[in-house]
Amino acid sequence: EKIDFIQALQMPGTSEQQKELSAAEKKKMTLDETRKSLPVYAFRDAFIEAVREHQVLIIEGETGSGKTTQLPQYLYEAGFCEGGKRIGCTQPRRVAAMSVAARVAEEVGTKIGSTVGYSIRFEDCTSEKTLIKYMTDGMLLREFLNEPDLSSYSVMMIDEAHERTLHTDILFGLVKDIARFRKDMKLLISSATLDAEKFSTFFDDAPIFRIPGRRFPVDIYYTKAPEADYLDAAMVSVLQIHLTQPLPGDILVFLTGQEEIETVMESLIERTKQLAGKVKELIILPIYANLPSDMQAKIFEPTPPNARKVILATNIAETSVTIDGICYVIDPGFSKQNSFDARSGVEHLHVVTISKAAANQRAGRAGRTGPGKCFRLYTAWAYQHELEDQPIPEIQRVNLGNVVLMLKSLGIHDLVHFDFLDAPPQETLVIALEQLYALGALNHRGELTKLGRRMAEFPCDPCMSKMIIASEKYACSEEIVTIASMLSVNAAVFYRPKAMVIHADSARKGFWSPAGDHLSLMNVYNKWKETDFNMQWCMENFVQHRTMKKARDIRDQLMALLERVEIEPKSSDDSIAIRKAITAGYFYNCSKLDNSGHYKTVKHKHTVQPHPNSCLFEELPRWVVYYELVFTSKEFMREMITIEPLWLLEVAPHYYKQRELEDATNKKMPKQKGKSKAELE
Ligand code: ADP
Ligand code: MG
Repeated sequence: EKIDFIQALQMPGTSEQQKELSAAEKKKMTLDETRKSLPVYAFRDAFIEAVREHQVLIIEGETGSGKTTQLPQYLYEAGFCEGGKRIGCTQPRRVAAMSVAARVAEEVGTKIGSTVGYSIRFEDCTSEKTLIKYMTDGMLLREFLNEPDLSSYSVMMIDEAHERTLHTDILFGLVKDIARFRKDMKLLISSATLDAEKFSTFFDDAPIFRIPGRRFPVDIYYTKAPEADYLDAAMVSVLQIHLTQPLPGDILVFLTGQEEIETVMESLIERTKQLAGKVKELIILPIYANLPSDMQAKIFEPTPPNARKVILATNIAETSVTIDGICYVIDPGFSKQNSFDARSGVEHLHVVTISKAAANQRAGRAGRTGPGKCFRLYTAWAYQHELEDQPIPEIQRVNLGNVVLMLKSLGIHDLVHFDFLDAPPQETLVIALEQLYALGALNHRGELTKLGRRMAEFPCDPCMSKMIIASEKYACSEEIVTIASMLSVNAAVFYRPKAMVIHADSARKGFWSPAGDHLSLMNVYNKWKETDFNMQWCMENFVQHRTMKKARDIRDQLMALLERVEIEPKSSDDSIAIRKAITAGYFYNCSKLDNSGHYKTVKHKHTVQPHPNSCLFEELPRWVVYYELVFTSKEFMREMITIEPLWLLEVAPHYYKQRELEDATNKKMPKQKGKSKAELE
């Protein structure tokens, strides 16, 4: 197989391109020399001067020019941490916060967690000594709850502002306000693309500090015809490049998520095995949000001579993380995006086509160390006609429940007049308020209730926070916190090696509970705990030890927060109590099997599918509450429990009415005959 590409245009380089050094030359340099070779270095003094002179500064500079790693260091070196104040820098992505902090710690010459640290949800790697602190934008939002004037910081840098994540957008409004009464705090807004003017206008015409980028020209190629299977096309393109293009020159492939990355990785490994000995070595490395940190470091290791690196990345590598040595970019044109449909009340992750701006960012990644090539797995026509110019900011497409609760806790009541860079649609604000009201977090005047205040203590979605608080009433906090931790790990609990599928599946079934997946997850945790958190036990049961350790870590933190909201943890083996507590948080996510054998959400009659991995799949219950929807070919309910419809009236009297729960029988449906798992997937 071969893919026909047509060369279209060339993205021009910049006049300063000659200065950039090759990866091979860089390898020989010391850390200090590497720092000095970055484009920002020439502007070091001018930058420090500008920060001294202005309180708010907008920074614009090409990706990879050194904004994230260097600017906080420059200020640290220039004495902005005197008196023990910190320099903070936010990142929209956890991986970026971690990997950048690791790099900067190395450059500063300290261990991570001392002078340089990071803070992401459920993982605080900072100490008293930390002066340069990288954190996710969501974590800074949470810091406002404890320190509303950010008084421990002398500088706050809101980085990757162009990404326009929900949390970053909310931060804009909050830090703008703080800068007005904390004249001693410096505020930096940095961005990779051309939104600088817009940011400047928003921040009362703050000056723009531009760091000229350097880029080599990048040749853009499109496919001749649309590709039906972009994963396969991506894989074929990798091999095509590897076989025809000279070394050195690493390849960067943009995929939408972990599953896709794993699929492509597996088949690439398979294919290169067949070619072993006939071609040069191909080193295949993944990078995605939940990649364990020891694996993250690997992508930055220099490529050995006579080999080629292929990085399979999510759009993390678009602007947040820069990998040196990339000459070829493969861009299928998709990314995963969360969105919220106000009409159906449904929130989900979708694979969507990227914007032209994103496509050009991706292409730019090929031209950092030398002239590059970008292979787009779509046609030139599709680029012109099917891609939007700019992505839609997250604040305009997601459920706002979480941030509304946060803002209310910060004492910001008038959300309609909050200083948004781009305001969210009125409708989604209203829905967020309604949902928080139904959860009991707000009263009918829209004010925070005691329950709401307690919920805001948890770094979780409102549904999960509510579930945790509700566990007090049902005297099962130990169990609910275990469930919350297992749901929060965001990584596979089980593994399923190809050669041992049968063993792995039967081990997994050993944990199943007839009450549903949440309780099955709890069983896994409790069994592991009984073995005193034994690693061998995990291996024998095809359970990921790393995931379990993460869950234990999260659990410890949630237990500490229980104490803060003064809940004394009780333990219960009453499955009904546990499921009622879950339902108290997740009652929106209730669906009912109708007589034609389809699940529809109770409130909005939206059709959803049981996930084939669910332990309830074999014998579908009439009423279920699910944890979340994932969208692949259809909308699947991930992690379900079976419930009694009358519980809904008990836990959500403001939300459900008796008549909606008519036909409140709980007959089980027979196994879905004739349909294989594959068909349903
Ligand atoms: P910007 O923020 O302007 O996009 P960065 O400061 O992220 O630029 O990157 C500057 C340089 O630091 C890049 O060459 C990048 O490869 C390097 N770098 C960043 N993080 C790491 C890391 N964890 N390991 C090695 N190099 C890194
Ligand atoms: Mg950066």
